[in-house]
Amino acid sequence: MKNKKEAVIIGAGPAGLTAGFELLKTQKFAVNIIEKDDQIGGLAKTVSYKNYKYDIGPHHYVTESKEIENWWKDIVKDEFIPLKRFTRIYYNRHFFLYPLEPINALLGLNIFESIRCVCSYFRYKIFPKKVASYEDWLTNRFGKRLFEIFFKSYTEKLWGIPCSQISADWAAQRIKNFSLGKAIFFAFFGKMFKKYTPRTILNEFYYPIHGSGSLWNKVGKKIINSTYGSINLNEQVVSVEHDNQKIVAVLTKSMLNENEASAQQLKRHEGDYFLSTMTLRNLILSMDPLPPSDVIFAAKQLICRALITINLIINQEHITPDHWIYIHEKNVQTIRIGNMNNFSMMLRPNKQHSAIILECFTFMGDPIWLKTDAELLDQAKNEVAKIGLVKKELVLDGMVLRAPDAYPIYEGNYKLYLNIVYDYLECFKNLKLMGRNGMHQYNNMDTAMISAMNAIKPFIEQEEISDAAILKNIITPREKFKQE
Ligand SMILES: Cc1cc2nc3c(=O)[nH]c(=O)nc-3n(C[C@H](O)[C@H](O)[C@H](O)COP(=O)(O)OP(=O)(O)OC[C@H]3O[C@@H](n4cnc5c(N)ncnc54)[C@H](O)[C@@H]3O)c2cc1C
Repeated sequence: MKNKKEAVIIGAGPAGLTAGFELLKTQKFAVNIIEKDDQIGGLAKTVSYKNYKYDIGPHHYVTESKEIENWWKDIVKDEFIPLKRFTRIYYNRHFFLYPLEPINALLGLNIFESIRCVCSYFRYKIFPKKVASYEDWLTNRFGKRLFEIFFKSYTEKLWGIPCSQISADWAAQRIKNFSLGKAIFFAFFGKMFKKYTPRTILNEFYYPIHGSGSLWNKVGKKIINSTYGSINLNEQVVSVEHDNQKIVAVLTKSMLNENEASAQQLKRHEGDYFLSTMTLRNLILSMDPLPPSDVIFAAKQLICRALITINLIINQEHITPDHWIYIHEKNVQTIRIGNMNNFSMMLRPNKQHSAIILECFTFMGDPIWLKTDAELLDQAKNEVAKIGLVKKELVLDGMVLRAPDAYPIYEGNYKLYLNIVYDYLECFKNLKLMGRNGMHQYNNMDTAMISAMNAIKPFIEQEEISDAAILKNIITPREKFKQE
């Protein structure tokens, strides 16, 4: 492509699409986005089934960055609805407010349990534990008993490892901007200072009226409608060729007709710059030539938790007022239920019905991952009835989605392995990592987008420097005459 530098982007999720869109704006780059899925949006996409719309777990749009909020608003305009978050924990057939409020939690428990919780709460307020894990962090905050009731089984089902092995970094990242002082101030004076109150404290968020993915579809359209932008769907990057500390090309295999011989012919995409949102593990294992064995070993330790969402159509107009319900019941696989009805009216064709999402976390290859869709739908029907939320006979239909790399796991020594991988990849100056799995960071959409904006900065700067150098070396006929 004449005069344009070719940027190859792996993945059309929020980070890949943001990077592509922003690079095109500079008019210095041609953008080639490669996506293995048959639609764009990554984990933030919305899938349609019989005209009922389901996110991969409902995605709410909330950020403390004005720049990101305005970016979203510029894309979706008046299709962005402000909502007030309502979320509860369902435990022992009782609803508890989420985030957990100790007084509300105690009122919902029996008197003996409440006394136990209060004693344990003060025990850890007076003598806090040294914080080495997620378990220690939560115990200090809520006391051991409240931790056991409201966090332990949920968190362990989510991550598939004991809370004592989960790094305290995860808690720190989830609530990184939390400040008790700020929270108390806005609780008392929030009404007076509503204009200045962060959305996260007001519990307000935005939602695109046609589903989370509708925002990313609009971004995708802008990219493919521009002269120098393209998105190649159903192509998986399987090899990353490099030479002399530069990435030269990526090779892709077609995800269509995977069994046919033609699909085995790899397609080559060359570029000047490369940006990756594929998992760090897969990126390292795709490098050609392969990295040293310690880097390969480190990358293999960076694993993700997989997610299965079972998406149901229910013959009932109203189930609960919640956006999400955290399910703290033992003996069920579901850990969270999202109620799409409460996000937007436009997500279901029949207003008498409800569209709900049951989330189950697992590792690929575990027995639940290997279940057929019919078995999972049956499981979902039984579980909504078992926890007493929906009668089995009201479940009309449903479908199953699987996300193999949904949650990057922060287990024990993950930081050590992450640094080994980062150090190795840093020597490739025309490669940048971004996004959730691309950096193995527990990013939400806004942080994934910020990482994309930061990733493209050095490439833009480099092109600006080259342009300035070219301009400096151009000698006009008048200057040439003067020199002679
Ligand atoms: C259940 C759940 C609920 C969430 N809720 C929220 C929420 O409410 N609000 C919020 O802000 N965030 C939420 N998130 C997080 C949000 O989904 C992510 O932050 C965001 O999608 C990250 O964007 P990304 O582009 O980095 O990664 P992804 O969305 O994962 O996109 C990466 C893309 O790369 C593609 N890809 C991977 N490997 C290859 C390859 N080898 N070749 C080609 N393509 C490849 C993938 O198919 C994917 O499309 C949630 C996540 C989950 C799992």
